[in-house]
Amino acid sequence: MGKTAKKKPSAPKKISAPKKKTQLNLKRGTMVDLYEARQYLSLDTLKETGLRMPVDVYFKDPAVAASNEAAGFDKDFTTPWEPGLANGPTSARFAVVDYDATKNVLTPPAMWSQAKNCYLAPDGKTVLNEKTKTLFQYHQLSVWAIVQNTLDFFESGAGLGRRISWAFEGNRLIIVPHAGYGENAYYDRASKSLQLYWFDNEKGTVYTCLSSDIVNHEFGHAVLDGLRPYFFESVGAQTAAFHEFMGDLTAILMAFRNNKFREVVLEESNGELSNAELLAGLAHEFSEATQDAPYLRTGLNDKTMKKLAGNLEPHALSEVLTGAMFDILRGVFAKHRKNEVKRWKAGRSSRPSDRRALADTVPRMQMLAIQPLDLLPPCAATFRDYALAVLRAEQVANPTDPSGYRQLMIDCFIKRGILEESDRKPLMQPAPVFRRPALDVFHTVDQIAASRGGAYRFLDDNRAKLFIPLNVDIDIPEVIRASKRTRDGLPMPQQTIVQYLWREDVVLEGKRFGRFAGESTTMLCGATMVLDQNGNLIHWARKPGTADVGKSKAALDEQADGSRRRKEILDVIAARIAAGMIGESIGGELGLLPRAIPPFTVEHVDGKLRFGLAPHFSLDDDHAHDGTGDRQWQISF
Ligand SMILES: [Zn+2]
Repeated sequence: MGKTAKKKPSAPKKISAPKKKTQLNLKRGTMVDLYEARQYLSLDTLKETGLRMPVDVYFKDPAVAASNEAAGFDKDFTTPWEPGLANGPTSARFAVVDYDATKNVLTPPAMWSQAKNCYLAPDGKTVLNEKTKTLFQYHQLSVWAIVQNTLDFFESGAGLGRRISWAFEGNRLIIVPHAGYGENAYYDRASKSLQLYWFDNEKGTVYTCLSSDIVNHEFGHAVLDGLRPYFFESVGAQTAAFHEFMGDLTAILMAFRNNKFREVVLEESNGELSNAELLAGLAHEFSEATQDAPYLRTGLNDKTMKKLAGNLEPHALSEVLTGAMFDILRGVFAKHRKNEVKRWKAGRSSRPSDRRALADTVPRMQMLAIQPLDLLPPCAATFRDYALAVLRAEQVANPTDPSGYRQLMIDCFIKRGILEESDRKPLMQPAPVFRRPALDVFHTVDQIAASRGGAYRFLDDNRAKLFIPLNVDIDIPEVIRASKRTRDGLPMPQQTIVQYLWREDVVLEGKRFGRFAGESTTMLCGATMVLDQNGNLIHWARKPGTADVGKSKAALDEQADGSRRRKEILDVIAARIAAGMIGESIGGELGLLPRAIPPFTVEHVDGKLRFGLAPHFSLDDDHAHDGTGDRQWQISF
């Protein structure tokens, strides 16, 4: 996305009504031409030409809108236009299907008008906007516009700098805005869909599809599943919690990038982000209706790994990492505020501006949190893996670090117990920004990146140096190239990202495995290797196995790490079995029944147990740790 800042002449400012934004009425051929060249156009031009379409969406949800008019509808919101838009809405990557399983009703879709370049109600005349917010077609448009925009953000240079694939066959994620009656919402890989439920309370009907937080949270699951499909096959508490974190982070970052919303946040919190519940708190309406609490979860919390030791509930645990990232956000904002004072004292501005400080914080925070996702291991990710990825991505983008961002991040991660105090010294030591991996056989980056086969031959030729056991067969789920940008919009060196995995058998021996005793499961092992265009190693996040990979000290350490992993996996499986958190899922054609999904599923694949996550927006965790053996996923209202 282009920059929008324009130097204005320093003529005295006239007070006048805000300029009415006009959208040019262009011919379709012209639109397609411009669409081809969109990467060179500024945001203002994209809006003016209709390449970004205006759609009224709630900043947060109808309850926030009712209690705070300024935080009601986002009238500046736009979402990317593309040539193939159709009824539904349907676009390249999404299809809205409004089927309600409770009522067995298929609601007619929002209609695409080529002539008006917008979506209309089924009458072919009524424009869908704030005024028609009660129409289900407005709901359809709003939910589509949100995910269409969020995907664009993830794929932009400030995000991952490339197209993202889904974790399922096909390229269209189905969005079901009124999936049925229920206090829930979820992403479901099996039905390739986001399922958004509705429910009644004394104030009326709550539609989860109208909550930007809930839609973005669920979509965050879909994006992460596409990036790291093997995270689903995990019983580790932190990998499940990381999925929840990703959902909440997506919701916070997407709310946060909006100018108007930032102004409201600053006003409400008097410029102190430590009070900014409007920004940090998630799913206000849903939470008020279901739990009598203002927010379901919040980035403003003081949870630490120590306080939550032994807690296997993913949503609860995710708040530690969300809290850490919110601490970093506050720290970055504080630095930008100081810069504002410096500018003012140097006579470069008329006064320090919190608005400008927060506007400067946003792109840095987005990049700092999203770009490291490419550096995560392919399986079994922990909060520590993410913290190390964040620090490494920052080092690559900002090697000299004159403002001390690295120190700030390390402090925040240590405070939450995500990194250890003993990590500080090695992490603060100046290290080379780029280093070559030790290899037996050299391959060029172009050869590695050309295909999964090319990446495989590179790995296979270098098994010993890369600690890959000789006898295992390696799977390469994805090889991709990314063109990320710095916060100034400058291109970074292209990155090649290779994920590779293998499986190691693990037998569940002993009484602690209950009905699964004597069966075997597999431990996923592997790594993500990120190289720059010259073959320098940007990052290498490994999840070793227990097999022999050599006799050098590094190889023995690797093997010892694998043994630690194996022990941890066995312990967590036993703990989950004891807590009754593993069950068979009850499936349906249009997804899973919201009240009947256990948080972890199990199935037999090739005679071995395979565990998996079943992420939800919310689970009632009152029963999780009361020791009565209640199955936590049975929500009773
Ligand atoms: Zn979730």
